[in-house]
Amino acid sequence: MKNKILSSVIITVLFAIVIVTSSFMMLMNLEEIKNTKEELKNVNYLISELNNITDISHNDYENLKRLNDLKINNINVRFTLIDNNGIVLYDNEEKSSENHSSRLEVKDALEKGEGYSRRYSSTIKANFLYYATRLDNNLLIRSSVPIYTITILHQENIMYCLLILALVLIFSIFLSLRLVKKIIEPVKELERVTLKMTKGDYKIRADVKTNDELGTLGNSFNNMADQLQMKIHEVIEKQTKIESILKSMESGVIAVDNHNRVISINPCAESLLGIKKSIIGECLLDYVNDYDINKFLEQEEENDKEIKILHPIERDFKIKKSEMFDGVENIGKVITFQDITDINRVELMRSQFVANVSHELKTPLTSIKGFAETLKFVKDDETREKFLDIIDKEAERLSRLINDILVLSSIESNLIADVDEFEPGLVIEEVLNIMRKSAINRNIKIEFINNNTECILGDRDKFYQLGLNLIENAIKYSKDISGIVEVESFSKDEYYCLTVKDNGLGIPKEDISRIFERFYRVDKSRKKGGTGLGLAIVKHIVKIFNGEINVKSELEEGTTFEVKIPYV
Ligand code: ADP
Repeated sequence: MKNKILSSVIITVLFAIVIVTSSFMMLMNLEEIKNTKEELKNVNYLISELNNITDISHNDYENLKRLNDLKINNINVRFTLIDNNGIVLYDNEEKSSENHSSRLEVKDALEKGEGYSRRYSSTIKANFLYYATRLDNNLLIRSSVPIYTITILHQENIMYCLLILALVLIFSIFLSLRLVKKIIEPVKELERVTLKMTKGDYKIRADVKTNDELGTLGNSFNNMADQLQMKIHEVIEKQTKIESILKSMESGVIAVDNHNRVISINPCAESLLGIKKSIIGECLLDYVNDYDINKFLEQEEENDKEIKILHPIERDFKIKKSEMFDGVENIGKVITFQDITDINRVELMRSQFVANVSHELKTPLTSIKGFAETLKFVKDDETREKFLDIIDKEAERLSRLINDILVLSSIESNLIADVDEFEPGLVIEEVLNIMRKSAINRNIKIEFINNNTECILGDRDKFYQLGLNLIENAIKYSKDISGIVEVESFSKDEYYCLTVKDNGLGIPKEDISRIFERFYRVDKSRKKGGTGLGLAIVKHIVKIFNGEINVKSELEEGTTFEVKIPYV
C-alpha cells in the first residue's frame, strides 16, 4: 500500500510538473511571439516612416540600406520590400528571386493590410517570425527575426529542468512519505488491533488520534470493539450460566445435531452413560452401547420412554427428546436422561412395605378372628380362658404393630420434630425406670453407668424411643435368670455415645446386616412377639440425630449396640 501511494503520488507530481511546465512554456512562447510581432510591426512602421517608402523609386534603396543593422533584442532584423506581385524589391540580407506572393504573411498583408506567419528556416535552422505591412503604394514591407521559443530539451535548459525536477521529486517524495506515514500508521494500528482481537484480546483498542477521516474510522472501530466486547461478554455470561445450570443438573442433557453429532453434553449425562472423554462433534450413537437408547434416538415416533440400562451400572432411565430450533430451522434435538432408579426403588419398597404391613396385620387378625369364632362353641371355662388370653395377646401384638408402624412412618416422613437441649443420660434413666419391672420379672439385672452430663440437641421423645427400643430388645433377647443388661452413657471425641450390652441370644452373623430392615426378624421361632420394626425405627432416629449405629454380636454370647451422636 505504501509503495502504491508513493508511486501514484510521484506519477501525479511528474504529470503535474510536465503539464504545468508545458503550459507555462506555451504561454511564455505565445507572449514572446506576441511581443515580437508587436516589435516587428513597429519596425515595419519605422522603416516606412524613416524612408518614406511610399515615394521610393525602384532602384533607390540607399535609405533602406542604412537600416540594415536594425536590431530587436540584439538580433538583426531582416526586412524585405516586396511589390504587390510578390517580387522582392529589396532584402537587407539577400535578395531572393523567389516570388513571395504565396507566403502567408504576404497574402494576408495584401488582403487585410497586415499579416504574419511563423516558419522554420532550414538555412538558419531556426523558426522565423515574419510580419508584413502593406504600404500606401501597395508595396509590402516585411520584417522578420528568428524566434527562439523556450524548449525543455534545449541544452541550456535541460540542466535546470533536471535540477528542478530532482528537487521537486525529492520534495514530493518527502511529502508523500509523510502523507503515507499519516495514512499508513492508523491503518497499521487498526490492522494490529484487529489481529489481536481475532486472537481473543477484546480489551484492546486502536490508538488513532488524528482529526480526519482515519480518526473517525478509529473511533468507530473502537465503538464497534466496545459493542463487540459487550456482546461477547453477554454471550459468555449466558453460556456460563447455561453451562453451570447444565453442570449442576441431576439429569443428563445432551444436544445433538441432525446427524446425531454431539453439540453439548453435561457431566451428569457423561457419568450416566459411562462416557469418559469429550465427545463434542462426534456421533452420539458410537458412544452409547445400549440398544434401547439407540433405537429411541433413531426413531421419530416416541418422544419419551422408560429404559433400563445395564452399562456402566444397572439403572432405570426416563428419556425424553425434543426438537431444537434456531428460530426457523430444525437444527437437532435435545435428549434428557432422568435417573429414576431411586424413585423406582422407593416405589418398590413402598409396595413391599404395604404388602409386609398387610401380611403382618393379617396374621394376628386371622388369629383373633379364628379364636373369637371358635369361642362361641367352647363351653369349657378353662379353654375359654385360654382362648381369651390368646385373643388378648394377639390384640396386643396388633396394637404394638400398629403403634410401631405409626412411629416409623412419622419418623420416615420426617415430620419436623421439636429441637430440645437435653441430657441423654437422664432420658435413658427414664427408660430404665420403665423397663426395670419387666427385667426384674425375668430375673435380668440392669446396670447403668452414666459418665456424661453434656447435653445434646434434638428431639427428646425420639431419643427416648431409641433408648426404649434398644433396652427393650436387650431385655427381650436376654436369657432368663442369668441375664445382665449393661447400659453406658458417655462422651468420646466430640460424640455422645450410648452402648447397650446384653449377654443374651446374640444375632447370627448372616443376619446382622439385615436387622435394621423393616419387619426383619431373626429366626421367627424366637417367638418374642417382636414386630421387626424396633431397629428400623432406631436406625431412622440415629439418622435424624446425624449419628451412627454399630452392632457387635456373638450367637449365644450377647449383643452390643453402640450409638454415636455428634454434639453439634
Ligand atoms: P423386634 O420387634 O422383632 O425385636 P427389631 O427390629 O427390634 O424387631 O429387631 C430385629 C431383630 O433383631 C429381632 O427379630 C431380633 O431377632 C434381633 N435382635 C434385636 N436386638 C437384639 C438383641 N439385643 N439380641 C439379640 N437379637 C436381637
